Amino acid sequence: MQIQTSWLVLIPIVFGLGWLAARWEMRLQEFEDDVEQTKKQHSTFRGINLLLSEQHDKAIDALVEVAKLDPETTELHFALGSLFRRRGETERAIRVHQHLSNRQDILPKDRSHAAYELGRDFLRAGMLDRAESSLNLVIEGRYHLPAKVALLEMYQIEKDWRKAIIAATELGVLEKKNYQDQIAHFYCEIAVESMRSKNLIAAKEAIDQAFYAVPHHIRATILRGELAIAQQRPHEAIEAWGNIEKKSPAYLHLIADKWMKAHAELSLEQEGLEKLKLHLQEQGAGELLDMVFKHVLRIEGPKQAQTLMNNVMLSTPSLTAMTKRLEAQFLIAQASAEEASMAEIKASLDLLKQKTNSLARYTCSNCGFRARRFYWQCPGCNHWDVYSPKRSEGIGSV
Ligand SMILES: [Zn+2]
Repeated sequence: MQIQTSWLVLIPIVFGLGWLAARWEMRLQEFEDDVEQTKKQHSTFRGINLLLSEQHDKAIDALVEVAKLDPETTELHFALGSLFRRRGETERAIRVHQHLSNRQDILPKDRSHAAYELGRDFLRAGMLDRAESSLNLVIEGRYHLPAKVALLEMYQIEKDWRKAIIAATELGVLEKKNYQDQIAHFYCEIAVESMRSKNLIAAKEAIDQAFYAVPHHIRATILRGELAIAQQRPHEAIEAWGNIEKKSPAYLHLIADKWMKAHAELSLEQEGLEKLKLHLQEQGAGELLDMVFKHVLRIEGPKQAQTLMNNVMLSTPSLTAMTKRLEAQFLIAQASAEEASMAEIKASLDLLKQKTNSLARYTCSNCGFRARRFYWQCPGCNHWDVYSPKRSEGIGSV
């Protein structure tokens, strides 16, 4: 009985001690959690502060510390991944985003986000196949549209024009935006490639599709003429290019030489040249001037070329016209062996050529990229139809 009485006393004491130990453990755990939380908060704030003060290296160290303390955080991983990519540390960005997309416990929207970011990382690293696979995993949600935009950009880099057409068509529906101009250019690219590989049937189909996307498309009209030349039908080429000559003469310089060749094949060279001459009034500094000058010199001689340049100088003075006039004068002096005049003209000519060569440029209206030749797609910003067909001789002049 004595034992039973002591048990009665001991049992509450043991329970009491157990309760106290549990409480103590809880308090200890709470304390440890508080310390960890404070550490996380401290590192997060430190990271943000460093980010704001543009100290990216230190910011990354601080944020990596938080990610280690709480590996389940998704937002922080996204922030880190995008920071790595922005700094050009693509491999690290890929690792972070791959870790996120491999996790089983994240929400579908985060999985989509991770696939999109991973796609952009691969794109940045030039791993286009993997970028395509990742971006194609984003089939809905907030990142669906940006993923399609990235895919379209990628197909253009790869020059995979057929896939670009599909992506642009889908984007057109998603964004309720008109992508027809771009689609017409993609078909034109296919036509150019087909003509290069002598597949004239495929070229014709692509040109027809370009017109279907944008009726009277300028580039497709130019290509229709080139296709006719490839089929040995100069008459049809002149007919197609006649539309450029009448409706979009600013683009004539892109076909002027071929135009002259087609006319020559039909013994209509002079007629073709006269039509080109008419457009010099509005293209005093353009490439058309160089071409018309060359053909006038060849067909009519230096005196006629000089007269033409005198007229251009009166209506639309430009450094290009002045240079061409001196070139004609030089040839006239050379023909009559006037050594002194030749030396004098040559000195001015060299100086002018130097100036016009460095100034004459086509300029992108979107990013300001300046180039010596005309592009349908800007090599600087990859936008289409952003180059004015008119070459300029410096800022403000045409
Ligand atoms: Zn540009």
